[in-house]
Amino acid sequence: MRIVLLGAPGSGKGTQAKQLVERYGIPQISTGDLLRAAVAAGTELGLKAKAAMDQGQLVSDDIVLGMIRERLAQDDAHKGYILDGFPRNLTQADALDAMLAELDQSLQAAVLLDVPFDDLLKRLTGRRSAPGSGMIYNIYTNPPKVEGVCDVSGEPLVHRSDDTEETVGKRLKVFEEQTAPLVEFYRKQGKLHVIDGTREIAEITQDFRTLLDTL
Ligand code: AMP
Repeated sequence: MRIVLLGAPGSGKGTQAKQLVERYGIPQISTGDLLRAAVAAGTELGLKAKAAMDQGQLVSDDIVLGMIRERLAQDDAHKGYILDGFPRNLTQADALDAMLAELDQSLQAAVLLDVPFDDLLKRLTGRRSAPGSGMIYNIYTNPPKVEGVCDVSGEPLVHRSDDTEETVGKRLKVFEEQTAPLVEFYRKQGKLHVIDGTREIAEITQDFRTLLDTL
């Protein structure tokens, strides 16, 4: 199963991807997570990516495509994957199709998690995450049991440096301009499915399961 999750920052892609990983036993491949890990490790790639990330802009296609090519070649990706945050523009979507064609593969579906623009701002500024456990919370809509602490791992929660109000506005603009055209791209391929991302997390997960079980 090879799936692309489409959706604005804060639409809930990461949260849903984690549920799907458990159910289908395939990895979530998040270019954002890979880039943050490279920044945290201080690698050359991380240093190059950091400036763009801090400004809410996209990291260059060269860097992201190199990273994704390497990740898709790993053993755990052979039976499929859920792409979260990639592709992010038409160049990346074309490159992904070309990479898959070389392997005689294709995507089964692109699923758009649809959330109105106004909800996204609040979701993003309220988001807190636990890098160790991978859990994602929201101080308004999905708070942890104890303020500032992960329910699963007990680690302190982190406010991503690009989830500030200033950067969030820029990231949403980048989404509208560069990523939203992918909706049409996948619609034309007959692969687009739309899920209403404004409901409870569990209800959305149920919709994903119903959809993916039929693919
Ligand atoms: P995310 O966690 O998916 O919101 O990504 C955080 C940041 O990483 C984005 O704002 C971009 O700066 C960068 N990034 C993540 N995925 C990509 C991608 N596919 N192409 C370019 N930049 C990306």
